[in-house]
Amino acid sequence: MPTTIVTGSASGIGAAVCRGLQAAGQRVIRIDRQNADIVADLSTPAGRRAAIDAALAACDGVLDGLVCCAGLGVTAPSSSLIVAVNYFGMSELVDGFADALAKGSQPAALLIGSVASVQPGADKAPMVEVMLGGNEAEALAAADALGRPEVAYASSKYAVSVFARRKAVEWGKRGIRLNVVAPGAVETPLHKASLDDPRFGQAVKNFVAPIGRAGSPDEIANVVAFLQSPQASFVHGAVIFADGGMDAMVRSARF
Ligand code: NAD
Repeated sequence: MPTTIVTGSASGIGAAVCRGLQAAGQRVIRIDRQNADIVADLSTPAGRRAAIDAALAACDGVLDGLVCCAGLGVTAPSSSLIVAVNYFGMSELVDGFADALAKGSQPAALLIGSVASVQPGADKAPMVEVMLGGNEAEALAAADALGRPEVAYASSKYAVSVFARRKAVEWGKRGIRLNVVAPGAVETPLHKASLDDPRFGQAVKNFVAPIGRAGSPDEIANVVAFLQSPQASFVHGAVIFADGGMDAMVRSARF
């Protein structure tokens, strides 16, 4: 039975991913800050290290899959927390599980990005290169200094996609696939909090996908289950938008 680690498993997309992978016959090891097999805070280096060590012990150092869903939205307590969880809470786990994945059977990893990563300016924020350079203290300080959580969110997701794509050559040679799923609006507690927020609620309501509705967590989990399965054995280094057409609407000539 393949073993997959899922972060952010207690809610929304992560919980749906767990259900989908289990339905496909996988053993799932859940990581979250509550209600999980491994309770850990992915916003700190110590919490990430504890999560990696506990998960490696649980899978005996051999892993077939990793799906990083844990993340915070624009209503998080601070911009630095958004960057800490969304970028470093994914990139450090990817690096921490690489050797275990290399020993797995048809191994694959997947990061949950966001259609927000294609928002104008997300790629230009100076904090992006700082994140990609791995300087967490500087990246967190830059995010708080800017004081715009929507930019911190979009930039953290842009950096996640670039991080994954930069790994494609090395990981391809090691036999590990790595992809990103970039959802649009998905009905989860994170999305509901954005809708209810006086700063961002109206903009979120106005940004309707061509398909005319938000997605469900299961609709994202279905894409994840496919990408993590052997049926997707030639899909590697890709950013797959599952967004009801939002990306096509915003930048139809870029793909
Ligand atoms: P959610 O709030 O339902 O779930 C997020 C999970 O992450 C929660 O279980 C939470 O406990 C966990 N988490 C947060 N901070 C953590 C920490 N410090 N340590 C450990 N776990 C932590 O939200 P969701 O919408 O399911 O979000 C899942 C992912 O999807 C996120 O990365 C989010 O950015 C992304 N996303 C969501 C949407 C959307 O519209 N819902 C759109 C695009 C991308």
